[in-house]
Amino acid sequence: MELILLGVGAPPPTPQKSGPCNAIVKGEKLYLVDAARHAATQIMKSGFHVSKVDHLFFTHFHSDHYTGFGEFFISRWIMGASTPLKVYGPSPVEEIVERMLRYYEYDIDLRAEEGKPRAGTDIEVSVLEPGNALEVDGLAVRVEKGTHHGNVDDILSYAFEAEGRKIVIASDGSPTEALVPLALGADVLVMHPCLPELIDERFGSFKATAKIVAAHHATAEEVGRTAAAAGVGKLVFSHVVPPLAPDDKVREALAPYFDGEIVAGEDLMRL
Ligand SMILES: [Zn+2]
Repeated sequence: MELILLGVGAPPPTPQKSGPCNAIVKGEKLYLVDAARHAATQIMKSGFHVSKVDHLFFTHFHSDHYTGFGEFFISRWIMGASTPLKVYGPSPVEEIVERMLRYYEYDIDLRAEEGKPRAGTDIEVSVLEPGNALEVDGLAVRVEKGTHHGNVDDILSYAFEAEGRKIVIASDGSPTEALVPLALGADVLVMHPCLPELIDERFGSFKATAKIVAAHHATAEEVGRTAAAAGVGKLVFSHVVPPLAPDDKVREALAPYFDGEIVAGEDLMRL
């Protein structure tokens, strides 16, 4: 089992980084975690085929984590998927799926009228809650509310375990008490630190906005201490606030709190 960082960017589109999403790879299969901008393209770049991806786990529904959902879904069908897509996530995952399907209804009807089988446009939704555990094709999945993320109550952290490895994706926000137990002994922990001093610099006079953004995210100290307390093998940072914060500054900010391996996430990196 491996992790692919499909995109390590942030809400603003940039040429350097794709939108924030990840994938777990086990055997021949790719399991998508969030569906950010360019998710479908990033899947193809990673060497997998979009039509063969049958599982999508959402952490939460800030738009930067699902702007690529519709494109991924419709590309998967057009490129040949003929089985339902399985989508997992916190509330309101059912509403998000329903609204997305409505957006593509017109196109699906056009193609179906020309004879393309509708199979592959079905979506099976599973609403997940903190404390849930499930198994998908031998991949053990545990979910907890591992972060506080502003006013987003419905947010999940995921622990994936298979083949003797454990990969944990915390998602956005400051750690809750549930994160260290979830991440305990993980080989890889992915977190998203925020460096408020750099936000101030970039946002210039918009200090109020910077404050709100910083309050929604984990400090470097919180991220480093979580990794240390959980005793993880590798701490990976991605989807950093502010966007395009220099890697060396982020590493410098984390290092005093975690003396294990710190990895600056890059698009399409495999771990
Ligand atoms: Zn978010």
